[in-house]
Amino acid sequence: MTDVAANLSRLKSALEKAVKPFGHAAPKIVAVSKGHRPDAIRQALAAGQRAFGENRVQEAEAKWPKLRGEGPGVELHLIGPLQTNKAKDALQLFDVIETVDREKLVRALAKELPKAKRPVRFLVQVNTGEEPQKGGVIPAELPALLASTKSHGLLIEGLMCIPPAAEDPAPHFALLKKLAKRHQLKALSMGMSGDYEAAAMLGATHVRIGTALFGPRL
Ligand SMILES: *Cc1c(COP(=O)(O)O)cnc(C)c1O
Repeated sequence: MTDVAANLSRLKSALEKAVKPFGHAAPKIVAVSKGHRPDAIRQALAAGQRAFGENRVQEAEAKWPKLRGEGPGVELHLIGPLQTNKAKDALQLFDVIETVDREKLVRALAKELPKAKRPVRFLVQVNTGEEPQKGGVIPAELPALLASTKSHGLLIEGLMCIPPAAEDPAPHFALLKKLAKRHQLKALSMGMSGDYEAAAMLGATHVRIGTALFGPRL
């Protein structure tokens, strides 16, 4: 069985070590619990982990209302694509939506947010590799999307990216950081199980880690 607590402590040490030469803070771990059963998630909760990521509204709806009550202070992140017709449900369930990536979604979230009557924070997903099948706004369209979030009253905390699987992620992380700086955004969600150290070195504030924490998904 996977020792989630041991993995968590190893990941934290690796992140601390990675950022040390650069003098910035280690990123926060968002434990990606998609495809993992509640018992694995409970191990992470018992080890003190509080930020979790899910990529599907439906799966999160099935697992989290019960788990949330078991760990005070849980912060749930949506890290997968969001359809506009699920915006309302997502606002009831998640504390951070990392995948704002188009005007239509901005409008749907802005319309439903006041009715949700709970605070939700947002990141914009950037398609740094400009891959046609991937979610995220392309860098050239980021300024217009950010302007729209502003005019709709959605507060954006930062940017998120998923680099192309077959490429060196470092240039993508560097691009995301440059874009965030240009727009004075603080949060940078980048880095997964295969590249969290590189992301940490390049200034990630959040790394989204599934496999390296929980083992292979079901
Ligand atoms: C699944 C997923 C992760 C975690 O991937 P691992 O390689 O298992 O760490 C991170 N970010 C997103 C957007 C994901 O969908």
